[in-house]
Amino acid sequence: MTSISPELHLVDFANTAPNTLQQQVISAIDAANAFLDELAIMVDNKESANALDTKQALTDIKNFDHINLALDRSWGILSHLNSVMSNDEIRHVHHELLPKLSAYGTRVGQHQPLFSRYQTVVNDKAFFAALEPARARAIELALRSFELSGVALPKAEQDKFAEIQSKLSTLSATFSDHVLDATQAYALPLKAEQLAGLTESGLALVADAGEQFKARELAIGALTQAEIDTLPTPYYVASLNIPVYLAIMTHADDRNLRETLYRAYVTRASEFDEHANAKGESLNNADIMRQILQLREQKAKLLGFDNYAEVSLSTKMADNVAEVETFLGDLAAQATPTAEQDLAQLQKYAQNYGITDLQPWDSAYIAEKVKQSEFSLSQEEIRPYFPLPKVISGLFAIVERLYGIKVQEQSESVSRWHDDVGFYQLFDADDHLIGGFYFDLFARSGKRGGAWMSGFQSRYTYAEQDHQQLPVCFMVGNFTPALDGKPSLLTHDEVVTLFHEFGHGLHHLLTQVTVGDVAGVNGVEWDAVELPSQFMENWAWDAEGIALISSHVKTGAPLPKEKLDALLAVKNFQSGVQTLRQIEFALFDLLIHAQTPALDYDGILTTLNSVRQDIAIVQTPDYNRFANGFSHIFAGGYAAGYYSYKWAELLSADAFSKFEEDGIFNPMTGKAFRETILSVGGSFPAKVNFENFRGRSASIDALLRHSGFADTKNQTKNSAAANASTTSKVI
Ligand code: ZN
Repeated sequence: MTSISPELHLVDFANTAPNTLQQQVISAIDAANAFLDELAIMVDNKESANALDTKQALTDIKNFDHINLALDRSWGILSHLNSVMSNDEIRHVHHELLPKLSAYGTRVGQHQPLFSRYQTVVNDKAFFAALEPARARAIELALRSFELSGVALPKAEQDKFAEIQSKLSTLSATFSDHVLDATQAYALPLKAEQLAGLTESGLALVADAGEQFKARELAIGALTQAEIDTLPTPYYVASLNIPVYLAIMTHADDRNLRETLYRAYVTRASEFDEHANAKGESLNNADIMRQILQLREQKAKLLGFDNYAEVSLSTKMADNVAEVETFLGDLAAQATPTAEQDLAQLQKYAQNYGITDLQPWDSAYIAEKVKQSEFSLSQEEIRPYFPLPKVISGLFAIVERLYGIKVQEQSESVSRWHDDVGFYQLFDADDHLIGGFYFDLFARSGKRGGAWMSGFQSRYTYAEQDHQQLPVCFMVGNFTPALDGKPSLLTHDEVVTLFHEFGHGLHHLLTQVTVGDVAGVNGVEWDAVELPSQFMENWAWDAEGIALISSHVKTGAPLPKEKLDALLAVKNFQSGVQTLRQIEFALFDLLIHAQTPALDYDGILTTLNSVRQDIAIVQTPDYNRFANGFSHIFAGGYAAGYYSYKWAELLSADAFSKFEEDGIFNPMTGKAFRETILSVGGSFPAKVNFENFRGRSASIDALLRHSGFADTKNQTKNSAAANASTTSKVI
């Protein structure tokens, strides 16, 4: 058995108590704060920040990075456990620490003496130019984030900035509370005839929604226990929780029911939503949206930008608003002919169900009918071909062929947080240890839903203190566990998910950068960070890749060609319409953040309508208030950044097209991808890395081809709408 390298600094997960972690987080924050206090004193003793010695300033920066390791580590373990093994104790500790962490983060962001260290290094031009590129980039990024947090502003403006930030965080929280409350407040008891068409799992969902409805009505005193006892069991209730909503929109035969539910969904938290929260307050987000845009604009102006879109793009790969608009406009023009075919296909099928005027509440329902009759393929049929152990060993074989790297399982020799967890060491072709990773792939209670990669420990070296660490990451999924001695069997969607997360994992692990802030995925622009993950998915769609990862659980046969063809056909089903929808959201998001003066609610609705007129080919009812529930941009971090999804897709498609040209297992191309993208991480701008790999700037062609739009290209001239839109879509 290979021994485990001390440079992995593995955690003894089996013996980690939440209370101990809490102590560690607190003392790490205390130590970092004490360091900042010291820094403050040093600056006070100088006449001005300019008097700082550059070398000393850099040493202070490095020491501060180093002192933060203890916090990254203890907090990293705690938040990881809270995501994968949550219980009351961990959650309690986690919640208790959050305000302390946020206070510490604010202090760092506003810390003038620390900021002046970074300025000193950058202003000493000769010194800065001689730094290793990764260190220089880390300093530039840190300086930019200081500036975006308002540290460089005069005192009065700094106070104003802090006030804006604080108002914005309250408004965002209220926005998302309203959406959540509006979603939960809606309940529509269903009559037996309204259940027609629902699948078994759909019925279970509406029955479960019924039980939740009873419990809530009782809790808020709307119904007494006696009244609830008169209700049947199961009691079927339609709700706006997304699984229930989708089950009904996809399968319910009752067209009126679908329309009713659609209307409720797209008017949540708008002036048409009559629900109130527990305090009796309206859930209408209209004025909150106005205030958010206004405050964001004020913030942008304080920071020296014209509008908030510029603030958002200043940290992204895309250069400016015009570039993103052109990208979205081009993509829309190219997707439109396919979208028109998609729509025509749905309209034709709809007639079989007596629908002559296809409406938004019919689309998912009819699309499902088309899928069933045209593709006759269910994910359940595919499962037996993808036993998890085969998928994993095939995935390792694929990356070995691509990058020459080897994976070795070491689960038995390390301490883990659960028996299902696997631990692996990654070696280079010359048997050099690269790093380690954990797979925690099965659903269980106490685990957050979805799949993710968490770059727990970055590659990092601090020679002065003789500290070396190799990268370690967690890759987490929620697949069906192995049952009755049979291995876990994956749907193809799940296979793709595993490849996606492994792509993120390799980005984290294969880094050669030893400055933690820009090692692996750290410091990579938001609109480029999904490149390596989406890129990796391609091998799960390729015949040669499929041959390596599939083996029927009974017969051992690989996935037959006709099943792969069917999977590929479904992959691009309705891709035109779906792409246009994503563009509509992205363009709307970009435009409302690029407007000065900031828009009021009417202005927001007008912009949404004009984007729809330019982009959409399906009419949206006048009452649709999609924007009032658009949490990504009003409550999440995607403001003027929703385009990132499509942007990263363009990058990954274009990167993969190099492999299509050279052979998808071409080791030289693999080596080039590893060296120009994966190894360098955030130590150079994503644009530089991409151009180093591709030998040119990114092109949209591969994305069009992969989305199935290229085939319809020659039909563009037949479509007046598409031609007219090529220019008008670039608003
Ligand atoms: Zn991802």
